[in-house]
Amino acid sequence: MRLLVVEDDRDLNRQLVKALGQAGYAVDSAFDGEEGQFLGETEPYDAVILDLGLPKIDGVSVLEAWRVTGRKMPVLVLTARDGWSDKVRGFDAGADDYVTKPFHIEEILARLRALVRRATGHASSDLVCGPIRVDTRAGRVLVHGEPIRLTSHEYRLMSYLMHHIGRIISRTELVEHLYDQDFDRDSNTIEVFVGRLRKKLGVDVIKTIRGLGYLIEPPTTL
Ligand code: CA
Repeated sequence: MRLLVVEDDRDLNRQLVKALGQAGYAVDSAFDGEEGQFLGETEPYDAVILDLGLPKIDGVSVLEAWRVTGRKMPVLVLTARDGWSDKVRGFDAGADDYVTKPFHIEEILARLRALVRRATGHASSDLVCGPIRVDTRAGRVLVHGEPIRLTSHEYRLMSYLMHHIGRIISRTELVEHLYDQDFDRDSNTIEVFVGRLRKKLGVDVIKTIRGLGYLIEPPTTL
């Protein structure tokens, strides 16, 4: 999962990027409305954290511009304490949720998990497929109830595939959602990653669909 943080307070921006990175997300950051709007229009984010008070273009205008151009990613807005009118404007502009400053990072993380799982059609923070369970709260993967050790990239890959269970995911899509902007992207490395992940999982759940990409099939229910 790949996120965008648009926040002009440099310290806060850095803290968010660090915490989100530790939680297993790929993260890009922008420090003003113009840069944020551009990134949100051109990169495929799984969710965005958007401060409303921004230089150059304010957060509400950025959000309105995204929605007008058909960008549907979930957006969590950051508002000032007592900023009830900001919350109303934020929701009317197309926000999905808000957090009031100052906040605890755990609240941001929980709200993001909820936004991402709702956007991908899941009701629970546990994503299950046969013997595999992705615990998105703890950021870990279990096979037959046993946690397995994954690198952050491998976890991100598994989490993305499980959020999109039943859909074929191309290598290009994986590259776009697993790496931040500054990462040296190469879709060939995806194949290597998938190979390593399969070996660690030890069960055959990730199917290769020749010429199209990868698929985790939902277990057939009788
Ligand atoms: Ca601000």
